[in-house]
This record gives sequence, C-alpha cells and structure tokens, in this order.
Amino acid sequence: MISYEERTKDYAEKIAAFQVKQKQPYEFKRRYAEVRIKEFIRECAVRGLNCHVSVGGLDSITLLMLIRSMGYTSSDIPGVSVSSLEDSSVQTVHRALGVERLKPYKNKVDILQEFGFPVISKEVAAKIELLANPTEKNKTVRHAIITGETGEYGGFRKGTRMKLADRWLKLFGGYANEEEGVDYCVPPNGVKVSSQCCYWLKEKPADDWARANNSVPFLGLMASEGGRRQKSLMINGCNYFGKSTTRSAPFAIFMRQDILTLAQEMDCYYREHIDRFAKTSKLRSGEIMPESIIPAAYGEIKRDFSGKLRTTKAQRTGCSMCGFGIHMEKRPHRFDRLRERNPKEWDFWMNRCCKDPDGTLYGWGRVLDYIGVGWRDEVFDMENAQLSFDDIDNEEET
Ligand code: SF4
Repeated sequence: MISYEERTKDYAEKIAAFQVKQKQPYEFKRRYAEVRIKEFIRECAVRGLNCHVSVGGLDSITLLMLIRSMGYTSSDIPGVSVSSLEDSSVQTVHRALGVERLKPYKNKVDILQEFGFPVISKEVAAKIELLANPTEKNKTVRHAIITGETGEYGGFRKGTRMKLADRWLKLFGGYANEEEGVDYCVPPNGVKVSSQCCYWLKEKPADDWARANNSVPFLGLMASEGGRRQKSLMINGCNYFGKSTTRSAPFAIFMRQDILTLAQEMDCYYREHIDRFAKTSKLRSGEIMPESIIPAAYGEIKRDFSGKLRTTKAQRTGCSMCGFGIHMEKRPHRFDRLRERNPKEWDFWMNRCCKDPDGTLYGWGRVLDYIGVGWRDEVFDMENAQLSFDDIDNEEET
C-alpha cells in the first residue's frame, strides 16, 4: 500500500505540472482540449464505450459546440441535460442544439421535505447530513468533521480541513454532542440540511441515462473555478478512466478568460452553421432558432474596463431556489430577486413548501433565519442585481 507521504508527494508533482499548463496561452489550451477530446473518444471506442456531453450552462454549451465544430454529430456524441432545471434562455439554446432532455427523479418540494435543504455549500451540507445521520460506518468521518482529526487513511493528522468551520459547528454540531463530549446546538424542526438535491435532480437521471446507453460523459469543468472537483481535476487531469468513474473534462486547464474566448468563437461557428443546427434542433412548434448560443441570462460577452472578458448579465447560471452560497451573497440576494419577479412563488418557497408533522407550513425562511441570512424585509435593487455565483466558488471546503 502506498504511504501517506508518497501519495502526498505524487499529488504535489501532478498539481505542479497541471499549474504549468494552466499558465499557457489560449491557443495552446484550445488545441490541448481538442487533442484530449479525440484521445478520449478513441480510448472509449477501444473500451467499447459511447460518449455524450453533459450539458448545463455556458461552459458545457461551449464544450458541446467545440465537439460539433470538430465534426462529431449528435448521433456520434449526443448532448444530454436535465434541462428543466436551467434558466429558460439556457433551455432554448439546449433545444436549438438538439440536446436530449432528461427528467429529474423527484420534485424539489419532496426533496426538501424528505432529505433537507441544499444550503451553505455542497461539502458543508454533506458533512452536516452525516452528523445528523450517524452510523457505525461513518463514525471516523464524523469524528473528523467535529475535531479535524483523521484516522489511519488520513495519516493520523490533526486540524485538517475535514473539520466543519466553527460557525457551522456551533449551529449544527449538536448532533454529535453526546458522542464527542461537545456542546453545540441542534437545529430546530424543519432545519434539515442535505446535499442530496443534486443527486436526485441531476446526478441520478444523468448516471442512469449513461448506464442505459453505455456512455461516459464529457464535462465542462475547469479547475480554476474551484469547488469540490478542483483537486481531482488537477490530480487526474482531463481524461480519467477510474474504477468507478470515467469522464473527460477537456477544459480542466482553462481559466475564465479562455472559456469566454472559446464561447465567442463557438458562437461565430454556430451563426455560420445555423441552418445545419436547425435540422437537428428540438425546438417547439413556432419557436425560432436563437441568434446566439450565449443564453440571454448571461447577456453578451464583452471586455470590461480592464480589458477582461465578462458576461454582461449573469456570470454563471444554475438552478433557481438553490441555497448553496446564499450566506455569502450580498442583498438583494437570489431569494430577494425572486420576490421582485414573482411574489407568489417567493411566498411558497419561503413560507409553505414544507410541512411539520402537526401541519404547520414552513419553507426556506426557517432555514435562513437559523443561519442568520435576512429575507423578511424587502430589499430591491434590480438595477444592480446580478446573479453572481463567484462567491460560491471561493467558499472554503470546510
Ligand atoms: S444546484 Fe442546488 S438546487 Fe440545483 S440540483 Fe443542486 S442542490 Fe439542487
């Protein structure tokens, strides 16, 4: 068995090599991505696997287009998405590009009621969920979440990032009071936190489709975006054929500027070949092909005062009514914006989407109150309001 020290050294070398590639110019990275795409397709063919593109927002739309521009059609490598979770302008682009739509397995209300709310960050929610659902099997991990002390596999380290940040320990660590001899709070009824929403809405439908079609995904992930996949992208690189996971992330070494540059180039490609895309589109009757593959929610890609490319509206899009990162968002936050757009829908999600055993209705409001995020007072500033997920990316994985 490889020792903890050997593994750490190996990881450090891989990360250093990866960072060298991240610093290369755009042209190198685009070429590099194309080479990785071809390699992945070739290797999958050898292994008897099909490939598809997992499509969501702008990054993966750009990836789908890059693959199309390389001559692969939707019969060779289809685009697949749980499209209904995306902004309507993103869905329009999906239909124009003939993306196959998958259905989520559960509806959001059932998920909130049954498992809990996706809030803070996926990593923190998963840790809180583990604390709230103790088993003998997850005992070592729970101990690490409370204390930061790892077991044998983690090299008996202390003070690791496994420990939940003090702010969240105070509010949610009480599940482990007795076992760990600590004195934290246990959240009140209804403030159940869970990371399972993504699994039921996105991951399981995509995984099941992939299994049924003997297919493995291309993903539009970039290590520079941070998040929980950052380290594995840096260590495993673009194309990964693991024991339980096979995937290609050809944009792994891209930075934001690279993806926006490529998105502009792919948008030109789309415009030049729009008639061809129209033939394989899945537009509704009466719907016309959008002029651009940049969904309207993002606005346009333009240079800002410092010469950097930016989208003029949302920098990123995603599911509505997701609580990941909400504690780091300035007001008016995403729930304030929903209130402005649709007060009835806002009222439903904030106050009545779930039910206590005694019939009392509650919703996101109860969770936000508990974690100290304001929502009751009306804060509207639509002029400056932009969906910004930048802060979520900076969330510490603690
Ligand atoms: S991003 Fe948020 S709302 Fe969307 S599926 Fe994941 S947890 Fe649920």
